[in-house]
Amino acid sequence: MKLLIVENPRPLTFEHYNDVANAPLSASLNSGYALAIARRAGWDTAHLDFSAHGADAAGIAARILAEEADLILFHWVYSWGHEETVRALLALLRLESDVPLGAFGLFATLARSKLLQYAPQLDMILAGEFEETLAELLAGFCPNALTALPGLAVRGEPFMPRPLIAYLSRLPAPDDVGANLGYPSLNIAASRGCYGDCSFCFISPYYGCSRRRVRSLDSLEAELATRLPRRPVDSLYFIDPTFIAPGVQERQRVIAISRIARATGLPFGFETRVDTIEESLLTTLAKNGASSVFLGIESGCDSVLRRINKRITKQQISAAVRTVQGCGLQLNIGFIMFEPDSTLGELEENYAFLDGLGLLAEHDLTANLLYHNQIVLRGSPAWQLFEQEQRLLLDERLPFEARYRFRDERVGLVCTAMGSLASVYFQAMDDIRQYSPDSWAVCSAAGNPGTAPRFNKDAVNLLLKEAFRTFCAAARIPLPEKLNRLEERYLLQLRGIIT
Ligand code: SF4
Repeated sequence: MKLLIVENPRPLTFEHYNDVANAPLSASLNSGYALAIARRAGWDTAHLDFSAHGADAAGIAARILAEEADLILFHWVYSWGHEETVRALLALLRLESDVPLGAFGLFATLARSKLLQYAPQLDMILAGEFEETLAELLAGFCPNALTALPGLAVRGEPFMPRPLIAYLSRLPAPDDVGANLGYPSLNIAASRGCYGDCSFCFISPYYGCSRRRVRSLDSLEAELATRLPRRPVDSLYFIDPTFIAPGVQERQRVIAISRIARATGLPFGFETRVDTIEESLLTTLAKNGASSVFLGIESGCDSVLRRINKRITKQQISAAVRTVQGCGLQLNIGFIMFEPDSTLGELEENYAFLDGLGLLAEHDLTANLLYHNQIVLRGSPAWQLFEQEQRLLLDERLPFEARYRFRDERVGLVCTAMGSLASVYFQAMDDIRQYSPDSWAVCSAAGNPGTAPRFNKDAVNLLLKEAFRTFCAAARIPLPEKLNRLEERYLLQLRGIIT
C-alpha cells in the first residue's frame, strides 16, 4: 500500500504578501510526520510539493496519478485564493481514479464542514492533531468501506474529536520534505500547543484546547540524531508555539534542551511568550547557542492587549524586548498593527512604543511592524465573532478567508494605504532577492565595502515611518481622496527609491 502526501497549490498572491506569518510554524512538520507515521504502519510513501505551483490543475493531476497511490492526502494549510485550482484538481483526480482522497492540516481542521461541501470529491478529513488518527486509518484501511474514526470526518457520518496524543515522545522522527529542504535551518518541535489563549491565534482551535505538552529529552536527542545527517543545516529552530513555559521545572528543561543543541554544534532559535523571558535564563540559553528569539508582542497598547486576551502588559513587553536586546540575541517580532477594533490613537500609541524600543530602525522590520493586520480564516473564533457582529467582508474568490470591517473606518483607511505601500515594498524586496540572492545581505549589512546597495535602505525606512504617521494624521479628517493622494505620493517615492 502507498500513501501520497500532496502540498496543495498555494503560491502567494499580491493581496497575501504579508499574510504568510499567520500560519503556525508547527504546520511545517505536518507532512513529515504523516509520511513517517505511514512508513511505521508498513506503507510506502511519496510526497509531492505543489505549494509554489500555479493553475495547471491538469499537469498536477497527471503527476499525482502517476504515483499510483492507494490513498492521497492533501496537506492543506491555506490556499491564498487558489481554492478553485485545488477543487479543479480534485475533480480531475476523481474523474480518472477512485483512490480515496482526503485532507489534513490547519485549514482542513478549521473549515472541516465547509470544505467537505466545497470539495465533494474529498472522502475524508483528518481534523486536528492527526498522527494517531492516520495510524488507525492506515492499520485498518479498506478503500471501499471508509468509516468515521475519532478525528476522522467522513461524509455523512457524525464527527467525533480524538483526544490529544498522550505521549509525544512516541512519535517517529518526521521526514524532511518539501520547502523545509530549502531552509538552512532544521525545524524541530520540543513541545506542542500553548497555554495562552489569544483571540486571533490558530493554535488552540487546531488542538481543541489551550494546553501545552512536552516530549522527553531522549526522544528529542534521538530525532536530532536521525535528522541531522540527512542534509547540511547551519542552525536549529524550535517551532514550538512557546518554547519556554512558566515554572522552575520548565526552566531546567529548556536549559537541558539548550545543552542538547550545543552538543550538535549548531546555534538555535525559538519562539516564546513575553512573560517567559528572564535575563538569567536567556543568558544561559545564549551561552549554549541561542541566537534568535521570536516574541509575539502583537501590540504596544494595554487596551489592545486586553482585547486580544494576550495576558501580558506593555511594561512586560518593554522589559522582555530590552532583555533580549541586552543578551545579544536577534529579536524577531510578531505584531498586529491593525487589530480590528483599534482606534487611531492606538495606532499612534503602537508607533510611539515601537519607535521608543528602537524597533523601527531597519526597513524590513519597519515594513512588517507598520502594516501587519489580522487574517480571519473560516472556522476560527475571529470568523464567528465578526460574523455575529456582521463585520465580515466576504469575497467570492476567497471562500475560506475574510477581511473585516474595522470598528473605526478611519483605521481601515490607514490599513489600506499602508497595505499598498507594504505590498510594493515586499514585491520589490522579492525581486531584488531573486535577481541576486546575495543582494539581501548586501542591503542589510552595514558598511560592507566593495558592494554597493541597490537602494538606500535608510531612505526606505524613513519613508515607511513618515507615511504611517502622515496617514494616521490625515485619517483624523476622513477624506478618502486626500488619503488616496497621499498613498499615491508615497508609492511613487517608494518606487523611486527601490527600483
Ligand atoms: S501566546 Fe502565541 S501561541 Fe500562545 S495562544 Fe497566544 S499567539 Fe497563540
